[in-house]
Amino acid sequence: MNREINHSIDAITLRQQAEQQLAAEPECVKATPSDEKRLIHELQVHQIELEMLNANLRHSQAELEQSWANYVDLYDFAPVGYLTITADDVILNANLTASKLLGVEREALINKILAQFIVADNQDMYYLQRKRKLQIEAGAPQAIEVNFIKANGVTFWARMEMNRMDGVKDVQLLRVVISDISQQKANDDYLRLAAVMFQSAQEGVMVTDSENRIELVNPAFTQLTGYSPAEVLGQVPTLPVAGRQDGAFYQSILAEVDSIGYWQGEIINRRKNGEIYPQVLNIRAVRNQHQKVTHYVSVFSDISLLNKALERLDYQANHDPLTGLPNRRLLFSRLQDCMVLCERRSQAAALLILGLDRFKDINEIFGHLVGDEILKKVAERLVERLSCVDTVAHLGGDEFVVLLKHLAHPLDAANVAADIIQALSEAFQLLVGTEVHIGVSIGISLCPEHGKNPEELLQRADTALYWAKEEGGCNYQYFSEQLTQAAVSRFSMEALLRKAIMNKELQVYYQPQVDIGSGAIVGAEALLRWPHPDKGMIPPCQFIPVAEAIGLIGEIGEWVLSETCRQGQQWLEAGLPPLKLAVNLSPYQFRNGDIASTVIAIVNETGFPAKYLELELTETAMMERESVVLLQLERLRALGVTVAIDDFGTGYSSLSYLKQFPLDILKIDKSFIEEVELREDDKQIVATIIVMAHTLHLKVLAEGVETEEQLNFLKAQGCDYYQGYYKSPAVTAKAFAGFFKESLN
Ligand code: C2E
Ligand code: CA
Ligand code: CA
Repeated sequence: MNREINHSIDAITLRQQAEQQLAAEPECVKATPSDEKRLIHELQVHQIELEMLNANLRHSQAELEQSWANYVDLYDFAPVGYLTITADDVILNANLTASKLLGVEREALINKILAQFIVADNQDMYYLQRKRKLQIEAGAPQAIEVNFIKANGVTFWARMEMNRMDGVKDVQLLRVVISDISQQKANDDYLRLAAVMFQSAQEGVMVTDSENRIELVNPAFTQLTGYSPAEVLGQVPTLPVAGRQDGAFYQSILAEVDSIGYWQGEIINRRKNGEIYPQVLNIRAVRNQHQKVTHYVSVFSDISLLNKALERLDYQANHDPLTGLPNRRLLFSRLQDCMVLCERRSQAAALLILGLDRFKDINEIFGHLVGDEILKKVAERLVERLSCVDTVAHLGGDEFVVLLKHLAHPLDAANVAADIIQALSEAFQLLVGTEVHIGVSIGISLCPEHGKNPEELLQRADTALYWAKEEGGCNYQYFSEQLTQAAVSRFSMEALLRKAIMNKELQVYYQPQVDIGSGAIVGAEALLRWPHPDKGMIPPCQFIPVAEAIGLIGEIGEWVLSETCRQGQQWLEAGLPPLKLAVNLSPYQFRNGDIASTVIAIVNETGFPAKYLELELTETAMMERESVVLLQLERLRALGVTVAIDDFGTGYSSLSYLKQFPLDILKIDKSFIEEVELREDDKQIVATIIVMAHTLHLKVLAEGVETEEQLNFLKAQGCDYYQGYYKSPAVTAKAFAGFFKESLN
């Protein structure tokens, strides 16, 4: 195009030369008038031709200028940068995009060296490429990626193409095209990073398609689950639920992901080898531009180690490092829970604070290492002796605390205290070979009566501990003087009772049971008596609870049974008419041991017919261990033993509840009989019980009948039997036999 423009410039110069020629000619050539005329004409024709030519040329030039402008626009505003450089790298021209990319005004760019806009590292590569392009004919464009540096120092990545072009007079030029690829490069880098992250992540990653089929898993997935990609690709993941793999649970999670976009939670998963482990799972939905879910990305990590670490931390925070026992913090938290339970279920609990009596001296004499050794041994003995539901805590120093939950009776805490005192009174064998003796004092407070909160309870127990130490150590004190007294007397009672059993001081007395219709003695209740050589007759209500608490009731109850059967058999053999002998059974006899087997053995041994034996049980005894009691009673009934329900009306059971047990006799408690003549409500109650018992085919016996009026009332109501002082109190076997024989006459 340049050439054509030059051409039009040449045409104008030609005309000027012709005119100059015309003006100059008359001076050198003398022409004739006709020649002149012809010449003028020719000149005029030439002139017209030239003018026409000139007009055409101007028109073309205008057109050319227009397309030049178009071209310049295209060139300048192209999306890529164009530069023309010489073989020596000098910039001859550049479009606006190039000037913008390089951050330099176009004019300033001209004559600059292009390599100065290329970062040092890339200059060799650029140089080589330029050299190659100068040698090779323009062919398939070969691009290189070059890191440019703008005038302001900012770098950017560009794709660079170079093509050789021939300049004027064989000067070699290069057309350089540069396009900014920073964004694309950044994307590539990002993808490369993401791929590395995916491959090297500690977390397992699983990508499933919109149908939840596994498309992609990373190496950590394989490491954590044990499944190779080949084993899972195309499969639908499942989770273990109640021992089996369940796809439905996973689906329900995905439903949530679909609705809110993600799900996060802790789940239990199973490895290929069957091992179950906890994992934190995070699932996200990937959506396309139409908001349709195309993939689910699940990222999970195995938190079993984390859980173990947390457990360890939790353990450390809650346990004493020396003994491994719960520390104050854990004790308080358990105490708090226990207090809430006590209140809600009206239960009782006890808090025992232990202080080692000679610990300070031992520490001073033998040193702290020995002290620590003893503390550890004390902890071991305590844990050994106490049940797993109780808490043994170490508060530091020589202070140990025991929390007894589910206390059946306040005095039971004293049993545990006595047990601990006994356990710790035994010598401690030290590693150094010496034996030491330490004692322990114990302070006891009770929940709920001694404190509203753990602090108060602990402080009260501490006060009691102080009293115990004041007493000289090796003993326990309740925070209540009265309870301490009660516990002490219970212990002395225990000692006495053990001695009484050894010395066979216990006796069975018999109280007649009378048929109201005929007035005949038809049976007797066996009642335990303890005539003490110094204290006189000790009533059963004083020693039976102690026997129950210390576990002696089994032995005693068995003795009463066999003694009664032996006596009954002896009476039969002596020719007395048969009598029903009723023996009381404690609920404890159902708790420990097989009472039915015991009775069977006794009946066989004594030869006393089982049909003459009656067993008395209270409502509470039945309710406490329903199924066990039911089974045992059925076995006894099969032998012919009859069963009576004792103290009826004092418990909370109903007759309809008791109906499920195999019963024969209902004994109305003496508290209803006591004032039956005076109190209208008692009259009503007694009358109702009799009617109801009869409809259930139970015979009714009224206890504690002392007066004729009481007996008359009972007779009027159709009561079957009675016992009470009106007929006779419980008397010795000998007295009873005499009394019975007399009644027969
Ligand atoms: P329980 O089974 O209700 O025995 C009846 C109690 O009432 C007996 O008291 C008896 O002496 C007394 N009693 C009888 N007639 C009258 C009366 O007319 N008026 C009054 N006020 N009382 C009367 P005891 O012998 O002191 O026995 C008390 C409780 O000791 C018995 O109550 C029973 O629960 C228990 N017990 C007695 N012996 C044994 C035994 O061998 N084993 C078991 N597990 N408990 C026994
Ligand atoms: Ca009884
Ligand atoms: Ca009774």
